[in-house]
Amino acid sequence: MEDCIFCKIVQGKIPAVKVYEDAHAIGFLDIMPANKGHCLVAPKKHSQALTDMGDKDLAATILAAKKIAKAISLGLGNAGFNIVMNNGKEAGQVVNHAHIHIIPRFQKDRLRIKWSHLKYEDNEIKEYAEKIKKFI
Ligand code: 5GP
Ligand code: ZN
Repeated sequence: MEDCIFCKIVQGKIPAVKVYEDAHAIGFLDIMPANKGHCLVAPKKHSQALTDMGDKDLAATILAAKKIAKAISLGLGNAGFNIVMNNGKEAGQVVNHAHIHIIPRFQKDRLRIKWSHLKYEDNEIKEYAEKIKKFI
């Protein structure tokens, strides 16, 4: 992927502050963090979204995320963290190379990752389950 900035980071063509690297995955600091220490974990091989990733790359990326999340917490002393993955532009994905955000959370930080809750009518919840289960 010639125009992909994360592919360029993987190839070392543009700089990034890396915290982790193995054969399949890479972890680096987000340059515009939601909180300081916010890291991104991406497969080295270009995929656009979670659903496009091969199982090996996905396993390596989520295991790297676990490792990095532990290291962030130990290094920065945060008690919690959010894992966020935006898939598709409607979901807020801006960089079209699959990546997982790890955002350290501190007591009384000003970050809000919350949504308002909807309600299902009558049997609607089961109808939604059926629509999904058809494709599992
Ligand atoms: P998305 O909205 O696609 O899930 O998130 C993309 C993230 O990549 C953003 O949080 C943004 O700050 C970060 N980002 C964009 N360009 C670069 C870059 O060149 N280097 C690094 N380290 N992060 C970037
Ligand atoms: Zn890419």
